[in-house]
Amino acid sequence: MSDEQPTRVSRRQVLGGAAALAGVSLAPGLFLVQAQAAGTGADSSVRWGLLVDTTRCPADCEACVDACQAENGWPTGEATEHPQWIRKMVVGTGERDGAEQALPVMCQHCADPPCVSVCPTHASFKRDDGIVLVDKHRCIGCRYCMMACPFHARSFVDAPVTAHASEGNYPRGKGTVEACTLCVHRIDRGEIPACVERCAQEGHAALVFGDLNDPDSEIRRALRERVATPLRGDLGLDPGVRYQGLS
Ligand code: SF4
Ligand code: SF4
Repeated sequence: MSDEQPTRVSRRQVLGGAAALAGVSLAPGLFLVQAQAAGTGADSSVRWGLLVDTTRCPADCEACVDACQAENGWPTGEATEHPQWIRKMVVGTGERDGAEQALPVMCQHCADPPCVSVCPTHASFKRDDGIVLVDKHRCIGCRYCMMACPFHARSFVDAPVTAHASEGNYPRGKGTVEACTLCVHRIDRGEIPACVERCAQEGHAALVFGDLNDPDSEIRRALRERVATPLRGDLGLDPGVRYQGLS
């Protein structure tokens, strides 16, 4: 079980408006390179996405966090700085009725990702199927992308990471930045992300993964049935992760 504590923020901070989720905006002149269309061989007809139904996500459940930690091997503990690819947040609807909603937050796999725009070495890139990644061989650890990400989704790796489950995702780069990859190594094997699998195994089924471009996919059907909201929609980043039940 992860010992990470859920982060509590206001609903207004999550959904956007005057207060930014991270309190960080891009400084003028910080765009050092143009976003690159990475030729990764990924299928450009696909856009992978994730739908989170917050009404099915109990505040005390950390199953997705645990699954991600086990799959990808980022450490837990009291270190002030260590990689964390997914975290649970509790959003207070506060003044209105005192109610709270819980939601997992990870890299939102933005269609227009500021982390890619600011990266001076092109280490940050977006695959043709919409997955945003870091090439550890090009990353110099400058952390510009961490400052640019409005979701605090990226982490600096300050120690060797060897405990992850997947051989295809090894070794990782000490001294570089990383974030949720949507379990790209599993997707490329035709599997679903570890968090989605575990959430279903726990009986919550709060996470739906699939192709946002396919009108017949489960995620598109779910999006047709209920309103979904991107986090910080006011930023216009077109995240691949959407949330239901937050409005
Ligand atoms: Fe980049 Fe942050 Fe968007 Fe992920 S959530 S694509 S790290 S800006
Ligand atoms: Fe690019 Fe790495 Fe710097 Fe992030 S820390 S901006 S990925 S070089």
